Amino acid sequence: MTTKSTNPETIGLHGGTFRRDESQTSVAVPIHQTTSYQFNSAEHAEKLFGLKEFGNIYTRIMNPTTNTLEERVAALEGGAAGLCVSSGQAASAFVVQNLCSTGDNIVSSTDLYGGTVNLFTNTFKSMGVEVRYADPSDPKNFEKLIDDKTRLFYAEVLPNPSLRVFPIKEVADIGRPHGIPLIVDNTACPVICKPIEHGAAIVMHSLTKFIGGHGNSIGGIIVDSGNFDWSVNKERQPNIWQPDPSYHGAVWGDVVPQLTGANIPYIIRARVVLLRDMGSAISPFNSFQIIQGLETVALRMKQHCENAEKVKKFLQKHSKVEKVIYSTLHDGEIGDRAKRYLKGGYGALMGIELKGGLEAGKKFIDSLKMLYHVANIGDARSLAIHPASTTHSQLNDKDMAAAGVTPGYVRLSIGIEHSDDIIADLDQALNA
Ligand code: PLP
Repeated sequence: MTTKSTNPETIGLHGGTFRRDESQTSVAVPIHQTTSYQFNSAEHAEKLFGLKEFGNIYTRIMNPTTNTLEERVAALEGGAAGLCVSSGQAASAFVVQNLCSTGDNIVSSTDLYGGTVNLFTNTFKSMGVEVRYADPSDPKNFEKLIDDKTRLFYAEVLPNPSLRVFPIKEVADIGRPHGIPLIVDNTACPVICKPIEHGAAIVMHSLTKFIGGHGNSIGGIIVDSGNFDWSVNKERQPNIWQPDPSYHGAVWGDVVPQLTGANIPYIIRARVVLLRDMGSAISPFNSFQIIQGLETVALRMKQHCENAEKVKKFLQKHSKVEKVIYSTLHDGEIGDRAKRYLKGGYGALMGIELKGGLEAGKKFIDSLKMLYHVANIGDARSLAIHPASTTHSQLNDKDMAAAGVTPGYVRLSIGIEHSDDIIADLDQALNA
């Protein structure tokens, strides 16, 4: 590793093993736009394919540009190893598929990104994997849904639109004695939340959002903490402990620690089995673009959060705003979780409930001049969307309310422009 620092500002620039390109001495991480890699000899190729040695074979499975991104995000999260995939959505699919087969189940938080809800409720169901939903307001709800076939717990750290921070330690502690890892999607809070420190076994991100930040590339990553004890109940995790027929009967829980010296069977299996078979590889060019974002994500998160604080105060006093929804503004335990789990700021995502419902929401969106009206979050630019007329418009009133969306709800992703300019645009649109 080139730095021992645990500071995110330094890790974004120096994390991982890359110091310079060894052939040309370039400091910027080169784009290795290649499909394949020349083997040193027949013996070398045999060792790579036989997993006797790790090294580049083919870009579907690994790539040097992507490797730097994987190492740096793993370091940022305090994890042992990372695996990039083609999108955040692919990461959500992989983290579950890596442990589940037909007949298995997972317990997931109810507070999820809509794309994940579709994947879990419809696509996984069609594959025979059942998703059981637990309301995270009470962590004990997770324990109630476990049976012998429960392979993992899944949650988002700061889900929108509810913006209720997830009880990471509480749920990780419930799973650990059963051998059930907690897997969290930390897309909305890189830098300001380090879920592994609170007990999460696996962390994933849509790199498309804050880590990329420039809104120009889609990507996803999975980070293995390297500290989950997979052997607590070996029957609980057949994909880790049963011989894998697709790799000459390899038992990942045994082979990987022997080969790497690290407790990372989960992430190695995801790479050599899922990425090999499903093929959702990120392009090296996208990895390069996302590295440019990663280099400044710590600074940007500070600015995102500082701006969000100012915008929150402005909106709370505005006569056209019924209510502001923000991580710290929930009553009691849920608001306290934001203060316990988020450090250095409370996030860029915010909701506003407009007086005047659906029509007021649409008019507000149409009146914005600087904020972009897009379905994305986590861009350096400030963004807004009105879920009732867009992302959630197919839901009935009851399901919309369950998702935390009311007719006058507008979701904001506060960017890094000058806060005065963000506030001025919001003000003129509210008064239009
Ligand atoms: N997870 C969260 C929390 C998201 O907001 C998104 C996308 O909006 C995803 C995962 C999926 O990521 P991607 O769009 O990179 O596929």
